[in-house]
Amino acid sequence: MPLFHFPCSDRLDLSGGILAAKKFTVLVIPEGSHRVRRFGVRRATLKAAFSAIVVLSVGVSLLVFDYVRTRVDRDELQHLRVRNGIQQQHLHQLASDLDSLREEMVVLAQNDAKVRVMAQLSGPKTEALAGTGGPLEEDATARFSDLQRKIDEVRQAIDLRRESQEEIRGELNDQRSLLAAKPQGWPVKGWITSNFGMRNSPFTGRRKMHDGLDIAARTGTPIFAAADGVVSRAETTPGYGKLVVIDHGYGYRTYYGHNSKIFVKVGQRVKRGDNISAVGNTGSSTGSHLHYEVRRNGVPLNPRKYL
Ligand SMILES: [Zn+2]
Repeated sequence: MPLFHFPCSDRLDLSGGILAAKKFTVLVIPEGSHRVRRFGVRRATLKAAFSAIVVLSVGVSLLVFDYVRTRVDRDELQHLRVRNGIQQQHLHQLASDLDSLREEMVVLAQNDAKVRVMAQLSGPKTEALAGTGGPLEEDATARFSDLQRKIDEVRQAIDLRRESQEEIRGELNDQRSLLAAKPQGWPVKGWITSNFGMRNSPFTGRRKMHDGLDIAARTGTPIFAAADGVVSRAETTPGYGKLVVIDHGYGYRTYYGHNSKIFVKVGQRVKRGDNISAVGNTGSSTGSHLHYEVRRNGVPLNPRKYL
C-alpha cells in the first residue's frame, strides 16, 4: 500500500518549499478501484513523531550496545575465572616445588658443613633457610611476595653453597699440591751411613753440622725425586760434586749430592719417583753414596722425618 504525503496547495509558496508548510495531507491510494483515503496531518505532529522515532532509535541502539557489551564482559569474566583457577593451581604447584627446593638446599648445607670439616676449613657458611617456611598466605599479593621472598632465600643459599664449594675446592687443591710437594720416601735404595746433625767431619775431624743424610749405595744406583717439582740446579760444585736441586714449592727443596751422572736439566719439571741421577762419589766424598738434604725456606731439616 503506497503512502504519499505532500503539503496543502494553499500554503505552498516558491521560496519556503515543503518545510515551510504548516499542514500536510496524506493520501492513501489502494491498488485497484478502491476509494482513495486522505488524512490531514499537522506539521507539529509530524515533528513530534519524527523526534519520537529518533529518541526511540537512539534508546534501542544504546540498549543493544549495552547488551552486547554486557555479554562480552560476561564471557570474559567466565574466561578469567577459569584462567584464575588454573593460575591458582600453578601457584600452589610452584610454592610446593619451591618448598622441596628449600628442603634440598638445607640438606646440601648440612653436607657442605661436613665436607668443610673434612677439608679442615672454618665453620659452615650459614644462611636464613633453615627454620623458615609455613603455609602460603591467602591474599594473592602477599602470597606472591611470600614466594618472591622464598625464591630470594634459595638464590642466596645457592650463592653461599657455590662460594663454599669454591673455597673447599681451592683448599683441597692446595692440600693436594702440598702433599705432592712434600718430600716423601727413600730417594735411593741403600743404607744410612751418616745422620743429620752435628758430627765430626770425616775430612778435618772437627765438630761440624751435617745438613743432610748420607745413604750408601753402589755407584750407578738410580736416585729418584722425593716429590713433584722443578729442577733448580743441575751442576758440579766443589763440595757436593755433581748436584741436583729440586724446588717443590711451598718452600720445599731437596738436594741430591755426589752423583756420578745427572739425567735432568734446570727448569725440567719432575714427578715424585722420576729417576733424576745416579749414585756416585763426586765432590767432597769418601765413598759411593747419596748426600740427601731436605730444606724448607732455606733451613735444613732432618730428612729422616721425610723418608
Ligand atoms: Zn753428607
